[in-house]
Amino acid sequence: MSDSLPGIDIKREHPGATDIARAAQIVEQVLGDAKRPIELHEPSFGARERELLSETIESGWVSSGGKFVNKFEEMIAARVGVKHGIATVNGTAALHTALMLAGVIPKDEVLVPAITFIATANAVSHAGATPHFVDSSWDTLGLDPAALDRHLQDISELRGDTLVNKRTQRPIRAVIPVHVFGHPVAMDELIAVAAKYRLSVIEDAAEAIGSSYRGKSCGSFGLCSALSFNGNKIITTGGGGMVLTSDDAVAKRARHITTTAKQPHPWEFFHDEVGYNYRLPNLNAALGCAQMERLDEWIAAKRRLAENYESAFRDLKGVRFLSEPAGTKSNYWLNTIVFDASEQDGKARDALLKRLHQRQIRARPVWKPMHLLPMYRDCPRANVPIAEAIYGRCVNLPSSPFLVK
Ligand SMILES: *Cc1c(COP(=O)(O)O)cnc(C)c1O
Repeated sequence: MSDSLPGIDIKREHPGATDIARAAQIVEQVLGDAKRPIELHEPSFGARERELLSETIESGWVSSGGKFVNKFEEMIAARVGVKHGIATVNGTAALHTALMLAGVIPKDEVLVPAITFIATANAVSHAGATPHFVDSSWDTLGLDPAALDRHLQDISELRGDTLVNKRTQRPIRAVIPVHVFGHPVAMDELIAVAAKYRLSVIEDAAEAIGSSYRGKSCGSFGLCSALSFNGNKIITTGGGGMVLTSDDAVAKRARHITTTAKQPHPWEFFHDEVGYNYRLPNLNAALGCAQMERLDEWIAAKRRLAENYESAFRDLKGVRFLSEPAGTKSNYWLNTIVFDASEQDGKARDALLKRLHQRQIRARPVWKPMHLLPMYRDCPRANVPIAEAIYGRCVNLPSSPFLVK
């Protein structure tokens, strides 16, 4: 096979065993003649989006009032199987709100996987608390409940009902499982560990709408959860997010603090605490309502695309496709391939990324683990060997639903 791409000496860049040129060829074969450049995940809009957006503009209700916010909240809550949805300006705001609802206060610590998008750790910081990083599992790429248990055994103790980090003397209040790339975390095990240590569970289900664990939707576990409708997620509102909960009191408080903590009154401005302007505008919600009509179709297409990648990579040595964990259904938000352990230095990953980018295929590495970023370098953490290996060995491949052949 020819390996003569201008400017790339693949053997020099990547002396390892894996045939990078062949891996790139397999990706191109799966994507076929899709129009270049091919982004990692692109939104799709049609006549319905235009119709509902026009309707919103004509109604004059573009901002925090209007019917689409309620409608969008109801559609999402029904889909996930929770009682309440509270739409927010983005997923980070939803997470920040969820942390406040869980009673996280300044100087607390919150357990967060080292492998996640920055928003998870940032939301903890926005709440005045400190992220405490823990390791992930190769099965899910999400938080590993057994490793979490071992770590907490080691560094924490229960004082009454409060878990305290013996090294920092700070309370550890909550844990945020993140369903990475749509693959569900082992929730039964995670919830058991959380109960043992009296931790609140806040699901970061930003990437996992439509995914389920043992028949139960991601976003319906724990006290509350957060979704994101950013432009790169499966459905988008431009920017947007949602807090989900089945607890009436928690939902009421979520609405209150995301709406400037204003007490309802026909004319009086009375705010009873420092609140947030976190509500989703009606304009964005209209887009979300139109997108929701397509969700199931898109997930089905994404699952077929995942099958295509999986079978195309089956016979290539040194690489495997990451399938949904046993007992779960993944929305396959982002398709992921994993290089063998011998490729952990990241050279195979970078050689493949470089080659794909040259061909206008915008594959991406997994996020740099949080504890390697300057602002989170000194945070408390477990040993996170799997997180570091995931970073070295994984590549995300283009995953838009329209790419399926
Ligand atoms: C997208 C995302 C969020 C939220 O991001 P926003 O851009 O604020 O909507 C949070 N966590 C994870 C894991 C995400 O992928």
